[in-house]
Amino acid sequence: MKVVLQDLTKIFPSRNKNGQEVVAVNKFSFEIPDGKLIGLLGPSGCGKSTTLYMICGLQQPSGGKIFFGEDDVTELSPENRGVGLVFQNYALYPHMTVKQNIMFPLENLKGDDRMTKTQMLERAYHVAKLVQIDDLMDRKPSELSGGQQQRVAIARALVKMPRVLLLDEPLSNLDARLRLQTREEIKRIQRETHITTVFVTHDQEEAMSISDMIVVMKLGVVQQIGKPQEVYDNPVNLFVAKFLGTPPINVFDGEVKGEKLYIGEQAVLDVKGAADQLVHVGIRPEGFIVDANGALECDLSNVEVMGRDVSIVSRHASSQNPVIRSIVDADNKLPEGATKVRFSLKPHKVFLFNKDSEERVYFEVK
Ligand code: ATP
Repeated sequence: MKVVLQDLTKIFPSRNKNGQEVVAVNKFSFEIPDGKLIGLLGPSGCGKSTTLYMICGLQQPSGGKIFFGEDDVTELSPENRGVGLVFQNYALYPHMTVKQNIMFPLENLKGDDRMTKTQMLERAYHVAKLVQIDDLMDRKPSELSGGQQQRVAIARALVKMPRVLLLDEPLSNLDARLRLQTREEIKRIQRETHITTVFVTHDQEEAMSISDMIVVMKLGVVQQIGKPQEVYDNPVNLFVAKFLGTPPINVFDGEVKGEKLYIGEQAVLDVKGAADQLVHVGIRPEGFIVDANGALECDLSNVEVMGRDVSIVSRHASSQNPVIRSIVDADNKLPEGATKVRFSLKPHKVFLFNKDSEERVYFEVK
């Protein structure tokens, strides 16, 4: 089921006379392809949850429309949209067993949708198997781990065979190891069921690792939509470049003069096609090459060995971050006692952004 968002907007009125209204989501248009997992990503307050709640019907848009397939669902109540919703806090009924929790949404079906007890049980076991909790069906939620409770919540969301699955920070309450495991699980379940899924998170690594496409939002406005790797390799502005990547992108003050990029006094890269201007220079940690003849000279702070790779921590007067982190192959040996390190740069890992607008400035990469 494709989901179409058309100029979707949500404005919260101000709470007092002189207060400002909040544009939580501003003209969001996007066609979520059938059967894909979309990650809605952005810092706290950027409008992710509000978007999700409008898709599920818990929030009424101030403007725009939502379609499931060809059906306009903008005015439909959540019960009539065929959505499954999973929240950060699993919100299971504590006095019910896992089985009862999963079957609960089926008990209230009306008319032609009514199911017999046997059909309900069959359906509950089917989804419980899918999320691999079918051996825990007689336990109460308090007898389960956080990860298991979240699986029950997912099973409960799936039991009505929703047209669209909506997940609001579903992994936030889990510890690091369980987060990793459960996000893989969510990906597997989504692949097996082919249900169009929207996943909200502020964790870029989480979104990048499981989404078919990511939507990066800032202050209610969509910044960029694309496959995770494409967005990482081609950020349209400084905000997106900074938001994606661990370690984060290194940013320097720079200037383009005569199709050459200067950081400090040094011309560090040919940037054919870029007009003269002041820029923010974003360099991914993997964009540095240790090179005795490299144009970018930095003060060496320390070298962290990470096995296959080495993280070189250095400083430069034009760096906007306190330290520069570059990841290079462990074969790169720095001389014992070195206080300086010189780098040349991989052009496709260097992004320029106009100093004022922070929009991308493109140049030819050979
Ligand atoms: P978080 O990651 O912190 O949950 P989010 O990206 O999901 O953030 P939203 O919850 O969608 O952000 O909020 C977007 C903006 O709308 C915020 O500025 C928030 O304060 C505001 N907002 C959300 N709900 C309401 C409300 N009921 N009344 C007024 N303002 C609201």
